[in-house]
Amino acid sequence: MKPIVSDGYSIYFGDEGYGQLSVYVAERNYSGIFLIADTNSAELCLSGFLSRFAVEKPIEIIEIEQGESMKNISTCAELWNTLTELGADRKSLIINLGGGVITDLGGFVASTFKRGIDFINVPTTLLGMVDAAIGGKNGVDLQHLKNQVGTITPPKMVLIDSSYLQTLPQNEMRSGLAEMLKHGLIADKHYWDHFLDLDNYDFADFDALIYGSVKIKNDIVMQDPTENGIRKALNFGHTLGHAIESHFLNEPDRESLLHGEAVAAGMVLESYISYRKNLISKAEYSIIRNTVKNIFPTIIFEENDVNCILSLLKHDKKNEYGNIRFALIDGIGKIIIDQDAENDVIIDAFDDYKL
Ligand code: NAD
Repeated sequence: MKPIVSDGYSIYFGDEGYGQLSVYVAERNYSGIFLIADTNSAELCLSGFLSRFAVEKPIEIIEIEQGESMKNISTCAELWNTLTELGADRKSLIINLGGGVITDLGGFVASTFKRGIDFINVPTTLLGMVDAAIGGKNGVDLQHLKNQVGTITPPKMVLIDSSYLQTLPQNEMRSGLAEMLKHGLIADKHYWDHFLDLDNYDFADFDALIYGSVKIKNDIVMQDPTENGIRKALNFGHTLGHAIESHFLNEPDRESLLHGEAVAAGMVLESYISYRKNLISKAEYSIIRNTVKNIFPTIIFEENDVNCILSLLKHDKKNEYGNIRFALIDGIGKIIIDQDAENDVIIDAFDDYKL
């Protein structure tokens, strides 16, 4: 598969990626190479990665516990200390091998350590491949508030090897699928149509679907790397999705919710808002609602949940001057940014979602 050129770096696929990575690292003569992985990516992906990455220098492996709860500033401090103890300097390289938690965290640690050192992302989850590892956004959560601290610093390279997905649990696959659906809804109706009948989809072509998704995200990021305009399109489903995710992170007694599951619900809710604003027809809304709800379990929102989610919306870092702004779809495959929505329409959206 042809590499995709991004903002000062390239995204490589499969075998070619390992060759490119080995050459890239050899040419730069890094003083040290540090690989950050979580317990799962270390167990399931590390040996495969190391067997295909030809490098003469030793690689220091830094393993952390898996999970979103690790994506915080204390873990960063531990990683900065570990890097210091291991002798990392300004000429060191960090390789992030893992899902979105590792690439967000490792990217942030690299972009701040010694005021910024090189890093390369090797995503091992579907969500990481089609979304988190590309585009340069990284960062950590502040308690239950998602992604409140971070930088926009592009990696030096991204290597996508879909063979890592063989060990990924089904629910984590679905989590990545949510972002792929989003890419179709905001940018490409033809791409979206692939998801209408997933039961009969030939998964031998799945690499092509991943490639298509990466391309859509990358095209948008390239037009607006710092999110002043069109990059906000990628927030479709995420304004409410993040508030839902934050709310459930804050409720440890409730069933845990994956990022993609929250985003899937967010996409249905924000499609409803699009429909109420006459941007899409009722029929289009119904297709989106049914397609998403066929793939993702319906989240049970109890009485108080919606109020808490509405109040969390106020903290969304996408807000400008205190106003909640939505990216809404303006027909399937088209997006309109900086839209507001009245509280009662948002509440109606939850009511319709629950049906
Ligand atoms: P994750 O990194 O927590 O990975 C999900 C689970 O899969 C973890 O338990 C992990 O250990 C495990 N895992 C990883 N690779 C595996 C493999 N090959 N086989 C089996 N298990 C494996 O979560 P995620 O869904 O990849 O990413 C979610 C994070 O990404 C969130 O923090 C979200 O905010 C962030 N994100 C960032 C961006 C961005 O642009 N920076 C975009 C979307 C999401």
